[in-house]
Amino acid sequence: MIAIDGTSASGKSTNAKLVARALGYIYVDTGAMYRTLAWYCLKNRIDVSDAKAVTSACRKWKTSLVCVDGRVRLLVGGYYPEKEVRTPETAAAVPHVAAIPQVRKWMVKRQRECVQFGNLVMEGRDIGTNVFPETDFKFYLDAKLEERSRRRAADGVQENLAARDQRDSQRATAPLMIGLGAKVINNSSMTSEQTSGLILAEVRRRLAAVKR
Ligand code: C5P
Repeated sequence: MIAIDGTSASGKSTNAKLVARALGYIYVDTGAMYRTLAWYCLKNRIDVSDAKAVTSACRKWKTSLVCVDGRVRLLVGGYYPEKEVRTPETAAAVPHVAAIPQVRKWMVKRQRECVQFGNLVMEGRDIGTNVFPETDFKFYLDAKLEERSRRRAADGVQENLAARDQRDSQRATAPLMIGLGAKVINNSSMTSEQTSGLILAEVRRRLAAVKR
């Protein structure tokens, strides 16, 4: 179980996918799961800042976890809202639903269930601190704000990353922070090949240490 946490647009997805492919592990994007709930609330006109309403929706919605081509998907009513969860509206709504303790409890349970699919590379904000705190393989990615904003813009997405990071870091339940024993990688001036190479080298080093 490899945990990759970090700030928004710090390269978690790209690198987690590269590492998963290199090791033959299953890739899990936990941000997509929170985004799916935010999208579902927007679609059903549920106020994302109404914790009671969101919690109730989260208890009732019909979801399933599936693994397709080495990647885990959270389906709602059998549907995978791949594009819909990437809109700026959804991105702005996610930190609200992600700050609700009962929502996080639900998500963490689903995320732990992903071990049914095999060895995992899981990316998010609280994987090394909260979802799988016992893993020996924890990474925390970060990069300068200008560089992260540039990366998002290159993907065609304009959003206030600083505001999202602030919400994620300041919430009371499982805030974004560096996990105990996590290797911190600031990749402002690194390519994804260099970043994933560093992660893979560290995983192999720690694996050898665990075996000893
Ligand atoms: O990684 P991504 O940008 O898709 O995450 C979207 C949002 O989901 C984050 O800004 C955060 O509010 C929430 N999130 C979280 N915990 C995780 C993953 C994502 O709170 N493990």
